[in-house]
Amino acid sequence: MKTQYLTSKQLSKAAHLLQEGQLVAFPTETIYALGAVASNRQALRQLYEIKQRPKDKALIVLFASQDEVENHFPTLTSKHKALMTKFWPGPLTIVLPVSDGFFASEVTAGKETVAVRVPGNSLTRQLIRKVGEPLVAPSANRSGQAPATTCEEIKEVFDDQIAAALCVSEEDFLKQASTIVELSSGGLEVLREGAIPTEKLLKGLEGKS
Ligand code: AMP
Ligand code: MG
Repeated sequence: MKTQYLTSKQLSKAAHLLQEGQLVAFPTETIYALGAVASNRQALRQLYEIKQRPKDKALIVLFASQDEVENHFPTLTSKHKALMTKFWPGPLTIVLPVSDGFFASEVTAGKETVAVRVPGNSLTRQLIRKVGEPLVAPSANRSGQAPATTCEEIKEVFDDQIAAALCVSEEDFLKQASTIVELSSGGLEVLREGAIPTEKLLKGLEGKS
C-alpha cells in the first residue's frame, strides 16, 4: 500500500480512511499516534502486528469530549468528573472501570478497565468527531522505540505499511506521553508519569490550580 502523507486541510480524508478500518498516523498534543477505530478488531490486530506491540499492553482510547466519555461510562464518580473537568482536554489518561465486552479485548488486553483521554489538540478532537467514534491511539513507533514527533520519522518506520499520516509541524508537540492515573478506594494512583506532574494532579483534585 502507498502511504498518503496528508496536511491538516485533508482531515476528512484521514477520517474516511479510519472509518474504512485503515491505520492512520495523526498528531495528538503529546506525540504522533498510530490510530484506528476502537471498534474494528481487524484494524486493532493489524495495529498490534505492525507496531510489534506485546498483546498484553492495553491501548488508550481517545474521545472527542468529556460529554462523550460520560455517555459511554454512566457510573462515573464525582471525583472522576472533577479530574476530567480540570485536566481535559489535555495529556491526562484516566483508567476507568468498564463492563465486560464493551470494548474489544484488543483494546483492554482483557482487563476490566479501559484507559481514556480527551486530547488537548483540537485537530485530534476534530478528527475523532469526523470519524464519529472513539479512536485508539498508541504512539506511532515500533514497540520499545522512541515516539515520533515528525512525519519523516513515521515515514522511516511505517512507509507503505499504513494508509496515511496526517502531518503537522514539530513545534506542535509536548514530546512527552500522557500521564496515566487511576482512582481507587485509596485515592489517586499514578500508573505512568508523563506530561502532567503528580503534584499538579493532586492540587487539581483538591480544586486548586
Ligand atoms: P502507549 O499506547 O504506548 O502510550 O501505551 C499505553 C499505556 O497505557 C501502556 O503502558 C498500557 O499499559 C497503559 N494502559 C492502557 N490501558 C490500561 C488500563 N486499563 N490499565 C492500566 N494501564 C493501561
Ligand atoms: Mg508507546
